Amino acid sequence: MGGFGSTRWSGHVRRRTVEDVRVVLSLQEFSRIMVMSLSQPAGVIQWLGPDTHAEVAWSLQWRARGAMLTLRYGVRSEGRPDEPVSSAIEVATTHLPSGGWRWWFLCPRCEHRRAVLYLPRAESGFGCRSCHGLAYRSQRRSPLDRLLSAAAECWRRAGGVGRYHTAVIWPFKPKGMQWRTYERLREEHDRLKLERDALWVGMASRRLRRMGCAG
Ligand SMILES: [Zn+2]
Repeated sequence: MGGFGSTRWSGHVRRRTVEDVRVVLSLQEFSRIMVMSLSQPAGVIQWLGPDTHAEVAWSLQWRARGAMLTLRYGVRSEGRPDEPVSSAIEVATTHLPSGGWRWWFLCPRCEHRRAVLYLPRAESGFGCRSCHGLAYRSQRRSPLDRLLSAAAECWRRAGGVGRYHTAVIWPFKPKGMQWRTYERLREEHDRLKLERDALWVGMASRRLRRMGCAG
């Protein structure tokens, strides 16, 4: 999995986009799986695109308030045979005011309810758009935004919940997370935040100078 130090954190390299994704798991696929599961407890689902051919084996176990979807697939790493990976994805339901209910995937990384999960080419696990740091290619974001959302991503991975604000309260270490990882997230967050603030100050002072407000 793309860890720290990988290009996606640097902010200088092209941001990974939704188009770099190998498999998009939407509720549409999940309803196909649900229909298939009526006649078989496990099966295979394929994704065919212009430059994609992904095959994922699925199995589904029903739970009291949802289901557990297990996906198995091969992850290619350079010069080595495909490595088999198994990913368990919890599927939850919420009730609608109309009386029905809707399905949600719980992102295996942040556990937030999501309608779509992604498996990017360079990754071994499914996750939501924000966990995989995916942007839409059309989405033009300023360096300020990029730095801020990368900082927010560190905060979220370290257990931050809800909206990320500039005046941030650092979360307590989540259970099961190694201290080393937790501290690295904090360092990375602070570095990104400093870089962003410095950039902002630079831009603001240039603007002020242009307006004749500062020396
Ligand atoms: Zn997520």
